[in-house]
Amino acid sequence: MRFDLITIFPEFFTGPLDHGIVRRAREAGIAQIHVQDLREFTKDRHKTVDDRPFGGGEGMVLKPEPLFEAVEKLLGQSLGAAAQPSSLPTGTAVVLLSAAGKLFTQETARRLAKLERIVLICGRYEGVDERVAEHLATEEISIGDYVLSGGELPAAIVLDAVTRLLPGALGNEASTENESFRQLDAVDASATAGNSHPRRARLLLDYPHYTRPAEFRGWKVPDVLIGGHHAEVAKWRAQQAAEKTRRNRPDLLVS
Ligand code: SAH
Repeated sequence: MRFDLITIFPEFFTGPLDHGIVRRAREAGIAQIHVQDLREFTKDRHKTVDDRPFGGGEGMVLKPEPLFEAVEKLLGQSLGAAAQPSSLPTGTAVVLLSAAGKLFTQETARRLAKLERIVLICGRYEGVDERVAEHLATEEISIGDYVLSGGELPAAIVLDAVTRLLPGALGNEASTENESFRQLDAVDASATAGNSHPRRARLLLDYPHYTRPAEFRGWKVPDVLIGGHHAEVAKWRAQQAAEKTRRNRPDLLVS
């Protein structure tokens, strides 16, 4: 998978992409990450990337020309114009990070992980000229219902969530099958068995994890985890995951 991050703050990404799974995936060649300075695609002395909004109002807006030219250079093809629409290579997504985008979920990450190349456009200021969302980006993604000051953290989040799903990225360390936001049918259905009005969980959060010591400041690890009875452990984990989902994220449950 190749990621291209387009930003006016390239140095922002030194750090977040240099640790743990993302770092190992880069070193193993599973993920190639290129950070593109948007200002390289400006033509004036001041390297201007923004301008005042048409119609008036606060703040500045990122101009379309440098963004179109950056993506065209990265993909090595012209991306057309109103009179001459063109299409992207298959397996490529151009993602505009935007508070007004569609909500990013684990399902989005799974879909993106099947692609070959993802270009991530980081907005700043009041946002980005809408022609980027309409005619350059293949999708507009929000990482949550809050407004951040730039698209760099959201882009790093999308990159992290996608990278850890790439085959080989987690090594033997863990599996992505048993973590939060998995489908209920992927777990032991006994979690909801016996309930006369079962609420079917569409997505489940992770079950609680414990490690040594078995007793810490008087708080004990649940007995079932120590007994060595695998079927009982699996049942307990499924019940706990369902319970935790009900408690923390009832919105993930559908009746
Ligand atoms: N005026 C915009 C906010 C601009 S914030 C609005 O009201 O929606 C500046 C940039 O930060 C955006 O262009 C976007 O790239 C990024 N950003 C802010 N919040 C975000 C979020 N929740 N998800 C993804 N990107 C976000």
